[in-house]
Amino acid sequence: MNRADFEQRDASDPVGHMRARFVMPEDVIYLDGNSLGALPKGVRERVDEVISAQWSQDLIRSWTKHGWIDLPRRVGNRIAALIGADPDTVVCGDTTSVNLYKAIGAALEMTGGQRILTDSSNFPTDVYVMSGLGEVTIVEPDAVIESIDASFDVIALTEIDYRTGRRHDMETITRAAHSVGALMVWDLAHSAGAFPVDLAGCGVDLAVGCGYKYLNGGPGAPAFLYVAPRHHEAFANPIRGWFGHAAPFDFRLDWEPVAGIDRAQVGTPHVLSMAALDAALDVFDEVELSDLRAKSVELTEGFIALVEKLVPEVELASPRDADLRGSQVSVRHPHGYAVMQALIERGVIGDFRAPDVMRFGFAPLYVRHVDVFDAVTHLREVLDEDAWQEPRFSRPSAVT
Ligand SMILES: *Cc1c(COP(=O)(O)O)cnc(C)c1O
Repeated sequence: MNRADFEQRDASDPVGHMRARFVMPEDVIYLDGNSLGALPKGVRERVDEVISAQWSQDLIRSWTKHGWIDLPRRVGNRIAALIGADPDTVVCGDTTSVNLYKAIGAALEMTGGQRILTDSSNFPTDVYVMSGLGEVTIVEPDAVIESIDASFDVIALTEIDYRTGRRHDMETITRAAHSVGALMVWDLAHSAGAFPVDLAGCGVDLAVGCGYKYLNGGPGAPAFLYVAPRHHEAFANPIRGWFGHAAPFDFRLDWEPVAGIDRAQVGTPHVLSMAALDAALDVFDEVELSDLRAKSVELTEGFIALVEKLVPEVELASPRDADLRGSQVSVRHPHGYAVMQALIERGVIGDFRAPDVMRFGFAPLYVRHVDVFDAVTHLREVLDEDAWQEPRFSRPSAVT
C-alpha cells in the first residue's frame, strides 16, 4: 500500500470529479466534514444574490417574489430526497437541538407518556433536550435492543455515534420500538448527506438532522425535522409559533395549527443561511448517494488498514465492520488532544473528543484517497518526531 495505490484509486473514483465543486484551501487535508462541511462553489454567489439583488432591491417583496417564504419547505423537500422521506414530510429551519425539542415533545404528547429511552453514546445536547421534556433512561449502545420494553413511550437515538462512528441498525431498532408501542425518533446529524438513509422504508416516526455537517450548509446552517405523514394530524408542535399557524397573517390570538408538515415550523426562516444551504445541496443533484457510500467505505477501510499497519500504537475506536460504521474513523491515543493539534498545524484537520478520541471524518464528496495516505503518513511523523509534546499543543481551545 504505497501512495501510488491511492492515486490509482482516485483516478478511477466515480465521484472524484465532485471535489472540484468545492472551494478547498491549498495544503489542507480536510478530515472534519463531519463537524463543518466544506464550502461548495456557488454558495457565495447565491448568498450574494439574495443580498444584492433580492434584499437590497426588492426588500420585503422578496418574501413572495423570490420565494423566501417557501424556503423551509423547498429546502426540506431537497433534504427529504436524501433521507428516504416522502415529499412534504421535512421542513428546514431552527437548530438540531430545537428540532429535537419539537420532535420529542410532540412524540410524548402523542403517546401520552413520559418515558424516553436513549443511549450513552448520544450527543449531549440531545440528552439535555430530552431530559427537559421527560424521564430519560440511558443505557449502553449495545444494550438498546434488549432494553426496549413497553414501559417506554419514546425511543430516541442518534444513528451514528459522534465519537466512534458506530452505526445503529435503524430498521431493527425502529421495529423493536413499534413492537412495544413506542415512537421512534432518530437524529441523522452524521448520516444525512453521507450515505443513503431510508426513513420511510424503516417506518421511522420522527427524525432530525444537521445542515452544516455532510450537507455542507455552512456554519450555523439551519437543521431539519421529519414527521412521518401518518403523524401529521396528531403532531402538536410544543413551540407554537406563527409560522406553524393555519393563518399567520390573520394575526388572530387563538392557536390553530396549519395542516401538514408546515406545523413543524416556528418563526421567520433564516433566509440567508437557508439560501446558502439550498445552494450547497446542488452538489447532491449530480451524485448517487450509493456511490458516495461506496467511496466512503473505501476511504474508511483504507484509513483503518494503513493505521493498523503504520501506527500500531493507536487503538481503533470505530467498528471494523463497515456496515456498523458511518463515514468517520476514530482512534484513541492517551495524548490525542496534543497529537491532533500537531496534525492540524501540519494542515491535517480532524478533531478531538474527550478523553482521548481523535476523529477523522471522510466526506466522500471531496476527500481524496491520497488524503487518506497523506494523513496517516503525517500521523506517523508527528508521533515519531514527538512534535506533539510541545507545550503549545496541549493548551485547551474553546472549540475542539
Ligand atoms: C452536531 C450535532 C448536533 C448539533 O445540534 P445544534 O443544535 O445544531 O447545535 C446535535 N445532535 C447531534 C447528534 C449532532 O451530531
